[in-house]
Amino acid sequence: MVQAKPLKISDIIRFLEAKGAKARCVACGSKHFETVDECEPDARVAFKAFKFPGYDATGAKAIDVVLLVCGNCAAIRAYARKPIVDWAAENPTN
Ligand SMILES: [Zn+2]
Repeated sequence: MVQAKPLKISDIIRFLEAKGAKARCVACGSKHFETVDECEPDARVAFKAFKFPGYDATGAKAIDVVLLVCGNCAAIRAYARKPIVDWAAENPTN
């Protein structure tokens, strides 16, 4: 089993900027956002993906996500984690 490293906030921001993602909240337009720092809580967030038909929680797969939380209205945006991790590995800081 491969041990995943925590994703840094700076890598998330670098990824979003490189991809041209808007920093403003889609709900209120605020530029202030926060994210879950995986180094702080020592935890990651994932959505469960259920197979059709129905939803068997015991057989669900997990999709790793990164959450951005608006510092003004608390709206949450979710991004797939793996593309950010892969991009950060291909584009290391100096
Ligand atoms: Zn907002």
